[in-house]
Amino acid sequence: MSIDLKVPVATLGFPRIGRRRELKFALESYWSDKSSADGLLAMAKKLRAENWIEQRDRGVTKIPSNDFSLYDHVLDTAVMVGTVPSRFGWKEGPVSLDTYFAMARGSEGEAGGCGHPGHLHGATALEMTKWFDTNYHYMVPELSDDQAFALSSTKPVDEFLEAKALGVHTRPVIIGPVTFLKLAKSTAEGFNPLALLPKLIPVYAQLLRRLARAGADWVQIDEPALVLDLIPNEQEAFRFAYGRLAKAAPELKIMLATYFGALGDNLDTALSLPVAGLHVDLVRAAEQLEAVGRLARKEMVLSLGLIDGRNVWRANLPAMLEKIRPIVAGWPPERIEIAPSCSLLHVPIDLELETALDADVKSWLAFAVQKADELVVLSRALADGKNVVASQLGASARAAAARAASLKVHDPLVEGRIAAITGDMRRRQSAFVERAGKQDKRLGLPHFPTTTIGSFPQTPGVRKARAAHARGELSFVDYESFLKKETAAAIRWQEGLGLDVLVHGEFERNDMVQYFGEQLSGFAFTRHAWVQSYGSRYVRPPIIFGDVSRPNPMTVRWWRHAQSLTAKPVKGMLTGPVTILNWSFVRDDIARSAVCEQIALAIRDEVSDLEKAGARIIQIDEAALREGLPLRKSDWASYLEWAVGCFRLASTGVDDATQIHTHMCYSEFNDIIDAIAAMDADVISIETSRSRMELLDAFRNYRYPNEIGPGVYDIHSPRVPPVEEMLDLLILARHRLSDRQLWVNPDCGLKTRKWEEVRPALLNMVEAARQLRTQAKSPTDAQRGERKIHA
Ligand code: GLN
Ligand code: ZN
Repeated sequence: MSIDLKVPVATLGFPRIGRRRELKFALESYWSDKSSADGLLAMAKKLRAENWIEQRDRGVTKIPSNDFSLYDHVLDTAVMVGTVPSRFGWKEGPVSLDTYFAMARGSEGEAGGCGHPGHLHGATALEMTKWFDTNYHYMVPELSDDQAFALSSTKPVDEFLEAKALGVHTRPVIIGPVTFLKLAKSTAEGFNPLALLPKLIPVYAQLLRRLARAGADWVQIDEPALVLDLIPNEQEAFRFAYGRLAKAAPELKIMLATYFGALGDNLDTALSLPVAGLHVDLVRAAEQLEAVGRLARKEMVLSLGLIDGRNVWRANLPAMLEKIRPIVAGWPPERIEIAPSCSLLHVPIDLELETALDADVKSWLAFAVQKADELVVLSRALADGKNVVASQLGASARAAAARAASLKVHDPLVEGRIAAITGDMRRRQSAFVERAGKQDKRLGLPHFPTTTIGSFPQTPGVRKARAAHARGELSFVDYESFLKKETAAAIRWQEGLGLDVLVHGEFERNDMVQYFGEQLSGFAFTRHAWVQSYGSRYVRPPIIFGDVSRPNPMTVRWWRHAQSLTAKPVKGMLTGPVTILNWSFVRDDIARSAVCEQIALAIRDEVSDLEKAGARIIQIDEAALREGLPLRKSDWASYLEWAVGCFRLASTGVDDATQIHTHMCYSEFNDIIDAIAAMDADVISIETSRSRMELLDAFRNYRYPNEIGPGVYDIHSPRVPPVEEMLDLLILARHRLSDRQLWVNPDCGLKTRKWEEVRPALLNMVEAARQLRTQAKSPTDAQRGERKIHA
């Protein structure tokens, strides 16, 4: 059979950071020395070229271009359509590198200006937020109600031509106009950016014509907004936009890419659009294949998102072939493409770099280049028949079988414990009011008790010691004794300051998830498997490959050391199961909820050991609980039910008198307040300083019964808030909640701050609490032991 019959293979987008994080280092050197712009641009060009050539050589036929970005592809789009907010001083024409990075990171200097025309001064960056439900963060475009648009960069055309010059014919990728507007925020109150669509479309039309003129025959337009809950108006926006765009450059075919879930009730809309191709996510939503195949126009090209673009597992290719056989049989082969579920941006680049990984675990994984290989094998099996790739198919099936049977994956003890979970294991012994009385008596805290969220500054000294230990230059014993000294100094300092509930400082932790993952069974860690979190910030998520258990206590000796130095309560400090889950690559052979339960049991063991060691307060952080919410509202309830159930499994195995805290560093609670209450933590600390306590309204309206520490100190800024400012915030909090509920603490952990900032800020915070106590309603009320329980 001829090669022309091969089913086209697309990747939809490829990681752009470089195998050795070349982009990060080039960015950082440019930011520290502006004269190295040429170096940065040359590195960017080299990375693009390598990606194109690599994909081509591996057999990818629909090679993406414009999937590269120096910082963020949404920012690129904002710049391309000329939406640079006025504070960046841009008028028209190409947007300079300085302006681009000012939008990404803010510009230095005082607002107001130095007198030099054209200098930017103190412009704050665009906001950043999560790209759908991934751990990638994009820069939020800002649009005004009279926003003008103009094609201000030809990046997609330039990169298409750049690839062409290398002899690689690419399919440019752009973010679609509806998704772009939906992700943007309006600077005018009550204005919906979608109203700008008629003004935006001509700019897109102009771009498509330029691409066509440059020689592109296809363009991939990403509209992941099509997997969200849309109102009829928004569905109509799609019809309007693509009705126009299809006519703008009729010779340029549009592959409309949807991903991160099912089209669901937007399926009719998607299929009605006059586009040449449609990409669907068949990993998150395998079930939509049947309907898409039945309802799509036969002249449409269907791009099947078969390989998981969001996770690191090797596919079982023969099993996959079986599943798609019906659709492939009923569809003209030249009108099928195969692809990952979404861009490969969200997975690490190359598994081959992981030379230290357990060989079995490694044989179950596939990163971006391995996924490209898998797609090519699938394509050849479909087009040329299975025999051609029999050995690859066999290897794929054998790896899947080995993984399914491996004792590294399946631990009968864990599976037995899961089966034995009872309802009682998710409930405290008594209701909150009763517990609170016992805890008050045991703890003897004043009203408005002061505390911090856990971490203290990770100074260069701490980081250096950790790195030296990792390199084997600092012995285990010396490293531990260094950490013990840091901890002891932190305890002494907190006592001196007069904080009521102390923390050990988390100096021994590299990261709040990694630290635990490294001590749990079932987790693997990589050396080079970085994925972009935002801009130049990359993370190496742990890989949960097997049943999770906790062979040994993880934090008890650090807690014990800290508590031995003071009579004040020191909090045991743990990361919660939902957060560990949401910040990891999770095995795909059992439900996420099942993995989460296993982690919850491991944390429950740790909670129990901390309690036995004498901890009176244990904090279980759930920083990522909210961000795990599914994209569709109809899926929220089931997620929240198991997520809260796992938190309770982790946290409720303690005596009434042991106080459980949780912490969440975000500020939207209105829509999940039931779930927050259902967690039944005795105390929750949250981020509130930037919203000026507004989000406490959710707690007040709900009549949230337990205790709350609304953050009064914005730890994201080096600024030291004065006493009066924190006192003002606390008074705002008192308007919303009863005195007996309130704690006083910063928004989040302090690891990214410097001691020079933290010392005066916490001094002010303790002073604010003191002043608040003198203002408290009645002197007897000032002792929590005598609390009256409010209805
Ligand atoms: N206990 C952690 C810390 O203080 C919490 C961090 C977080 O919520 N992101 O660093
Ligand atoms: Zn936090």
